Amino acid sequence: MDRHPENDLHRLPDHLDRIRRYAADLLAGLDERPAAVAPDPVKPRPPAEGVGLEGALAEFAERWEPGFSGSAGPRYLGFVTGGTTPAALAGDWLTPVLDQNPAVDLDSTAPGLERETLAWLRDLLGLGGAHTGAFVSGATQSNTVGLAIAREWLGERAGVRVSDAGVAALGDVRVLSGTAHSSVLKALSVLGLGRDALRAVPTLPGREAVDVAALERLLDGRPTVVVANAGTVNTGDFDDLQALVALRERHPFWLHVDAAFGGLAALSPAHAPLVAGLAEADSVCVDLHKWLNVPYDSAVQFTRHRDLQLRVFRNNAAYLTDPAGDPDFVHLTPENSRRLRALPAWFALRAYGASGHRAIVERNIAQARLLGDLLAADARWRLLAPVRLNIVCFTLADAPDAGRIAALLREVAATGTAFLTATALDGVPAIRAAFSNWRTTDADVPRVAAALADAHTKVIL
Ligand SMILES: *Cc1c(COP(=O)(O)O)cnc(C)c1O
Repeated sequence: MDRHPENDLHRLPDHLDRIRRYAADLLAGLDERPAAVAPDPVKPRPPAEGVGLEGALAEFAERWEPGFSGSAGPRYLGFVTGGTTPAALAGDWLTPVLDQNPAVDLDSTAPGLERETLAWLRDLLGLGGAHTGAFVSGATQSNTVGLAIAREWLGERAGVRVSDAGVAALGDVRVLSGTAHSSVLKALSVLGLGRDALRAVPTLPGREAVDVAALERLLDGRPTVVVANAGTVNTGDFDDLQALVALRERHPFWLHVDAAFGGLAALSPAHAPLVAGLAEADSVCVDLHKWLNVPYDSAVQFTRHRDLQLRVFRNNAAYLTDPAGDPDFVHLTPENSRRLRALPAWFALRAYGASGHRAIVERNIAQARLLGDLLAADARWRLLAPVRLNIVCFTLADAPDAGRIAALLREVAATGTAFLTATALDGVPAIRAAFSNWRTTDADVPRVAAALADAHTKVIL
């Protein structure tokens, strides 16, 4: 048996061909694959002797792959989940083939590919030349990096270098947000600012968007970070970024914008006004493994304050480059060594450009609207918010209750047709459907509505 990689080496082309065929079959079956699979624990096996690549592939296909969901497929509408376009897949496959480490500019042009990709993304998102970017693993990490730079800025205003003196030197910090994503709390915990630093600011009536007048009343000269939201996960709502930028003129604060998926609204001329003002933000978070439809492990972090970013993340060592000038990526994010994370996005942007990605975004928005219209016309459901972008937030018209909604969603998932997730909006138990997959067709929308109606008949008496 081929227990040593050297033995697999001489048959590598055959192995790759086998994996390619297996992958092609999986992709061809995505439309029929259950959107979600009820977690049924696979019994772990004890560590064993190696079985070679072929044996490992056979065992994976038999024991694990059947329990994997169709999350890359067209009717997985839970959370905000993109799929993988063909070009993004090509970039991802090639990433470990060349296995570059773009942390430093010492041995290859790979970091240059990341810079090119970041410049393309900056243009796509309508950010100006004042912003510089870096790749991170996801929006949680992007929010963490943005808030770490904010923390350094707060220190600068208080006359301390938090990156040297530590967070204790900073004293009280306030982070204000209308409808902050849960990852912001995690970031505050990681950064030593603490979850308690977050103060919820009232939102506009019936909205998840921050009430800017209420925010202004809270600004009293204390050091403050405002986390603005460009696309909330429940209803896809947007803060008025331009109003926040104007407010910052009168009361200095750090403006961080969580535009994890909503940033992609910039691609649609009809929706781009939702992100007007994004270019003025001090730090911006955008996920790529959501609406850009590249595989997981991809987000970007942009900031107008690279000097502060460098202070936080610089990683001086005798064998590394000096961070002066255009710093290497090793000096800009929490990671040192990492994969060439930009390559899937580079392939996607080069293959499909702005217009190809605009078409995905606009199609998904139209699909969300269509589902919203179908549900609004059905007496079983009640929309909890207008469909502003790609998310439909709704509930049972009659006595919405978390237990009934959970049972209903389990029933929908059990059919394999679709996967939607539960939430609560203003205390009302609710359901949300998020459209962000390039594979979703308009014909999928009535199928989802029908699966919901069938589950309603079965579960809701
Ligand atoms: C998804 C999401 C996040 C967290 O993203 P991860 O990629 O899961 O780390 C943060 N903010 C918003 C608004 C999101 O939609």
